[in-house]
Amino acid sequence: MTKAFFYTLLVQIIISSCQSMNESSHHKPEYALVIHGGAGVITRNSMDSLTEKSYRSALDSVLTIGEKILADGGTSLDAVESVVAWMEDNPLFNAGRGSVFTYDGKNEMDASIMNGIDLSAGSVGNVRHIRNPIKLARMVMEKSPHVMLVGDGAEEFATQNGVGLVDSSYFFTQIRWDAHMKALEDEKTSAAEKHGTVGAVALDKYGNLAAATSTGGMTNKRWNRIGDSPIIGAGTYANNATCAISSTGHGELFIRYAVAHDISALMAYKGISLQEAANEVVMKKLKEAKGEGGIIGVDHDGNLTMTFNSDGMYRGYVIPGKRYVGIFGNE
Ligand code: ASP
Repeated sequence: MTKAFFYTLLVQIIISSCQSMNESSHHKPEYALVIHGGAGVITRNSMDSLTEKSYRSALDSVLTIGEKILADGGTSLDAVESVVAWMEDNPLFNAGRGSVFTYDGKNEMDASIMNGIDLSAGSVGNVRHIRNPIKLARMVMEKSPHVMLVGDGAEEFATQNGVGLVDSSYFFTQIRWDAHMKALEDEKTSAAEKHGTVGAVALDKYGNLAAATSTGGMTNKRWNRIGDSPIIGAGTYANNATCAISSTGHGELFIRYAVAHDISALMAYKGISLQEAANEVVMKKLKEAKGEGGIIGVDHDGNLTMTFNSDGMYRGYVIPGKRYVGIFGNE
């Protein structure tokens, strides 16, 4: 095999693993929705068929919910909020109800939302009694003069705005508790096994982009650690001029590399495509820094991407007439 041929083959493999929907014959879809349910050590060998089925069916159901909103003329902001709220209510995902436990055996959740029309954004961190952190993030965006509220203050803001608090027992799930116990015993549990998150990005019929992300964070996190998910520009970003992005992975690295904004900035400043920008950030910069995870994105022309450098990522997308759900790499 010549060097040039080997190189071409390698580039083709890398490109195909990035799951771009940037076809040359691309027609702008009327609407588009991309979702993720977390990335990490997700392999065929590590998952039984019943669990796999549950995830596939949950991803498919939530695509149906989001598609209905967009097809009926709802906004991208409403679609990403509803989709993420549904995933928060589903204990399969590490967000809302299915959140992981902290080192002290608590659930501390982070979420953010951004509107590509005017770059308005809202986020919450370290909330412990909010059933749907993503809804509170939207309230912060629309009903407060601030972008980010955390901890008790965020919950006080919720109460003042009529959002009832739930008892922390609502967030107890046996599977997450067992993972917490195991991680306490086994200091060696890798970062890649400790996380999960949910997210959605959408383009609506009016050409507007929005992004939303919500998470329970990393298993056994300490000291009120906050990850990338509620940080605008790291876990979430949306700008009608470029793209909408939601991230999932090892949050510290996603913050340091300002992942979501970096993809948007590369598109704006270099004039490159969404997929090229995602490759540059996720498959090169992050990978070299051992920042494991991935992103979902949609641009103003309806080009989609689901790019990850981990074994797998729960993911899916829908555009009129076409739907996809995936879990493992290379499917
Ligand atoms: N990014 C999230 C965090 O670090 C976790 C994840 O997406 O898996 O909190």
